[in-house]
Parts: sequence; structure tokens; C-alpha cells
Amino acid sequence: ELSTNQAYIDLEDQVAAHNYSPLPVVVGHAEGIHVTDVEGRTYIDALSGYSALNFGHRHPGLVQAAKDQLDRSTLTSRAFHNDQLGPFCEALARLVGKDMILPMNTGAEAVETALKIARKWAYQVKGVPEGQAEIIVMDGNFHGRTTTIISFSDDPEAHDHYGPYTPGFVAVPYGDLAAVEAAITDNTAAVLVEPIQGEQGVMIPAEGYLPGLRELCTRTNVLMIADEIQSGLGRTGTSLACEYEGVEADMYTLGKALGGGIVPVSAVAADAEVMNVITPGTHGSTFGGNPLAAAVGKAVVDLLATGEHQAHAKELESVFAEELGQLVGQGAERVRVRGLWAGIDIDPELMTGKEACKALAKKGVLAKDTHGSTIRLAPPLTITEDELRQITDALAAVLAEA
Ligand code: PLP
Repeated sequence: ELSTNQAYIDLEDQVAAHNYSPLPVVVGHAEGIHVTDVEGRTYIDALSGYSALNFGHRHPGLVQAAKDQLDRSTLTSRAFHNDQLGPFCEALARLVGKDMILPMNTGAEAVETALKIARKWAYQVKGVPEGQAEIIVMDGNFHGRTTTIISFSDDPEAHDHYGPYTPGFVAVPYGDLAAVEAAITDNTAAVLVEPIQGEQGVMIPAEGYLPGLRELCTRTNVLMIADEIQSGLGRTGTSLACEYEGVEADMYTLGKALGGGIVPVSAVAADAEVMNVITPGTHGSTFGGNPLAAAVGKAVVDLLATGEHQAHAKELESVFAEELGQLVGQGAERVRVRGLWAGIDIDPELMTGKEACKALAKKGVLAKDTHGSTIRLAPPLTITEDELRQITDALAAVLAEA
């Protein structure tokens, strides 16, 4: 029986692949916005599983939905129907304003699915010659870890040594509308965009960029695919980050919070004219749309349908922005905030992002660095204003003491 953080870390180090470099905290218990390590130390979780825990750990309503479903059925495969899939898809489609849902499990699978749908739509609806479809992607993108997706990543860590790579992708600078326009050809199937680039450090494009993309895609008969896996489902103060500028994409990819932090659930949402290029046997997943996932996913959508979590995130945005804004020039170079989501660029002369996160952990706040000197904060949407100030106060103290 292991009892210390170090003992578990040593064990993992021997038997679990080294594809992450976690903070030295071994969580044994979690509830709401808090996690407790195996030595009894409690922290505020200011990462929320990269926004998979938008409703906090073990949200009572979501746990209840899972428990109820565990007593009824858990997996049917799509060889048979189940009584959870339809209601889940109906609720999610309504939430995001689309006709149909294709359920998968992980975010990367949802993105792969959207890419496949876009290519097939290009051949069967738009009339692009077979094998010629092009998809425009953004520099600095993060859409997951599968071979096709990392083929168009410009992050060497994600990309290098995994070739040969999937062709058919054209990268342009994020935020540059003219570059997208110049890249569009008769063979362009889709533009794939994160409305806010999360892994890149919560990069928020200039106002007008998303509406501009929408207009361009409509004008050139190109599908706009918004990857809302990290930005969607309440994080930015709206159900979808695209909503902030009143933009409706042709396809959305959703994941992370859709599973309530309990089970992996992802989805593609699209209107029928796009989704119906998928016919029986042409795409699938053993676990996608399973009744346990659908029951939890439906409970998540029900939480969002009231709008209260989105409103809460929007309300706390000003506190978050004000508190973090005061750190600029006090150890932070820049901060970006939308809803309950923030990227803070730490002065690299002061410390690295990782060092800042280690110091934050000592003060009882868990966060994650990205790209060297940036910290990302994404606390559960259930956080109170006081608790949010505990996070920003801890960061202020870390920077002041450096
Ligand atoms: N798309 C975006 C925008 C993401 O942020 C992520 C994960 O960070 C993914 C896709 C991949 O999701 P998953 O890790 O569930 O495959």
C-alpha cells in the first residue's frame, strides 16, 4: 500500500509512459473545485482537466445521472439502438443550433470525424475531384494527437518523427483573414479553426476575425469548422465561443466537458445536408453514443440549457480580467481573458511557466503552463468570486515573491 505522493510518482515513472510531465501532486480525492492529494493536502483546481471539468469534480447531478444509467445499461454498441442516444443528440443539437449529432469519444476523434465529413462533402456535394480536397488550418493549432491531426501541427513536439504525414492541409497564420482568402481554391473543402486557441495560450483573435471567416466561407462555398472542444460548453460565458461574435459555423467539434469529467464523450454537430454524407458503414465507433456516455452528456447539456453557468462565467470575467490585469508589469507581460478562461504570459526573465505553476501549487492552486512562459487558468464554472480571488491572489503572491 503506497502512502506518499513520491511513492506513487516513482511507481508511475517506472510503469507509465513518459508522455506527460505532471506537477508532483498525486490526487486521491476530488470534489467541486478542489482536489486532495494522497497526503491530505487540498488544492483549488484551476485547470479543470483542460476544461473537461467545467462543472467541477463529481458534480452531484452528473454523478447521479451516471449512477442511474449504470443500473440500467452501459454499452449496446451501435449495432442496436439505445434509449439514451436520441434524447442526448436532440438536446445537444438544440443547444448548439444544428440538426444532427455524430457521437464519438475523444476530442481528436471528433476532429477526425469532422475532417472526414468535410472531405466527403467536398467530393459528393461541392464536386471537388476525388483525392484533391484541401482543408485550411491555422498556425499554432491544437486539435489532438492522432496521426492526421499532428500532420498539420506546427508544434515540433507534437509533430516531429511521426511521419509520413497526411497530405491535404494548408496552414495560414491565425487571425489573418487575407491569408485564408488567398489560400482558398476550388478544391477547398473546409476551414478548421479554434475560435480561441487554448493550447497556444488562450489566444483570442481580433474582433471581426470569426465573422470574417464566416463571410468568406459562405461566399466561397467552404465549410467553416469550429473546434469548440476546449472553448465550448460554457467556458467563455456562452454555450459556444463562436456565439460571442454571433457566428454560426457549419460544423462544431465538441468534447471535454461534454462528458462531465466522468466519461469521454465527444461529438460533431452539423446540419443534415452536411451530416448526411455519412451513411451506414462509412464511419463509426464501438463506444461512440453508448448509453452511459449519452446519459451523462444529456445531463451536461441540461445543465447548460438553463444558461446559468454561462451567465456566471460571463459575470466573473470582469473580476478575473481586473485582478489579472493588475499583474501586467508586476511579473506578467500580457494577460488574455474571456469568460473563466485566462492566458497569462509570465515575464521569462522572472521564471518559466512551469516554475510559476510549481510555486502556485505550493500556495494551494493547481494550474498548467503551456509553451514555456504562459500559464493557463480555467477554473470550474462553479467557482465563487471569493474562490476566484484566491487563485488570482496566489498568482500575484507568486510573482511578487519571485
Ligand atoms: N481540440 C482542441 C481545441 C483541444 O483543446 C483538444 C485537447 O486539448 C483536442 C481537440 C483534443 O481532445 P482529446 O485530448 O480529447 O483528444
